[in-house]
Amino acid sequence: MVTATERDEMTWYQCEACGLLFDDPDDAEQHEEHCDAEDPSYLQ
Ligand SMILES: [Zn+2]
Repeated sequence: MVTATERDEMTWYQCEACGLLFDDPDDAEQHEEHCDAEDPSYLQ
């Protein structure tokens, strides 16, 4: 899940699974689709 957080008067988008921060919500969503930390059950 991606959450928006404000820091230094900017909005950042954080991947909750691994904690990475993005300044672009599209980047964050794209990362989330490929983030291994979110759902390790699909790894085989
Ligand atoms: Zn992630």
